[in-house]
Amino acid sequence: MHDVVIIGSGPAGWTAAIYTARAGLKPIVIASSVETGGELMKTTEVENFPGFPTGIQGPELMAQMQEQAEHFGAEVIYDDVTDVSLTGDLKVLKTGLGDTYEARSVIIATGSAYRTLGLENEQRFSGHGLSWCATCDGFFFKDRIIGVVGGGDSALEEATFLTRFASKVYLIHRRDELRASKIMQQRALANDKIEPVWNAQVVQLNGDNALESVELEDTVTGEHRTLALEGLFVAIGNDPRTELFADQIDLDADGTISVDGRSSRTSLPGVFAAGDVLDPTYRQAITAAGSGCVAALDAEHYLADLDDRAATEAVSADA
Ligand code: NAP
Repeated sequence: MHDVVIIGSGPAGWTAAIYTARAGLKPIVIASSVETGGELMKTTEVENFPGFPTGIQGPELMAQMQEQAEHFGAEVIYDDVTDVSLTGDLKVLKTGLGDTYEARSVIIATGSAYRTLGLENEQRFSGHGLSWCATCDGFFFKDRIIGVVGGGDSALEEATFLTRFASKVYLIHRRDELRASKIMQQRALANDKIEPVWNAQVVQLNGDNALESVELEDTVTGEHRTLALEGLFVAIGNDPRTELFADQIDLDADGTISVDGRSSRTSLPGVFAAGDVLDPTYRQAITAAGSGCVAALDAEHYLADLDDRAATEAVSADA
């Protein structure tokens, strides 16, 4: 039986692995069979992670985190968790390759998935004009014409932020009414660089090596038109990856895992959460890493308490 099994290999998972490994807990990281490293594997230059003054490529940052975790003794399993039983003292995890892992504690760091537009060539343009992160990629669109898709707080926040760089930001929304809070709406719509494009759905991405324009469909009339732009930021919401745990663990109304105050303690003893899977607000690599540290320390204290209790019971039984 393992002391700690960590599910997920983004910044939260690797940080939890580094801390628990250094604490001598020999963590197992179940890191996915296809895409180890999480959302940062889709990013190019990461310029806002402290310690890299000239930036670092997302995949390189994740590779370094993994190397650091393995250096301290974390074991990495390239497999997917497909079934969990977390309610008892003994946690049991089953994987796609048919293996079973038993653990005294589990750290869930499965992240969240950006919603995509569902367009055919979305993957091809990702990192070539198409982005899901204004904080990460906005800098690359200095004096360019760009668009933001969405009508919620994220879209308006990103559109407003992107006016620092872009010469013009089209806010492309599928209705003629925004979902975002009033204050965010006022701030964005008062900005001269932001031009709303109402009742519009992006139905096609155009360009050779990089994005050059998008095809818009009017959601009322069905008419099509082409809008020239060099960057498109998709901000249509995120979904925390909780499908595996949703029937065993408490979730908040927004679908993230519910934790006790500022800790990582979930509704189940011995089960901890870290990173985007519990964070509907910040969703940055650095906040996920910090959250991974919290989960590791909570797991460490939980295991120490279990050991103390077992030792006390053993002494009482002997007496
Ligand atoms: P959200 O509130 O769910 O808004 C998603 C937006 O994307 C909606 O306007 C929606 O359109 C649109 N959309 C969804 N699917 C689409 C699709 N397939 N094609 C085109 N448009 C689509 O998500 P969010 O903006 O990420 O916000 C999530 C939560 O975080 C919210 O509770 C929000 O308040 C919070 N948040 C807060 C702040 C802040 O306070 N600073 C910043 C960011 C986020 P419809 O409106 O037509 O449904």
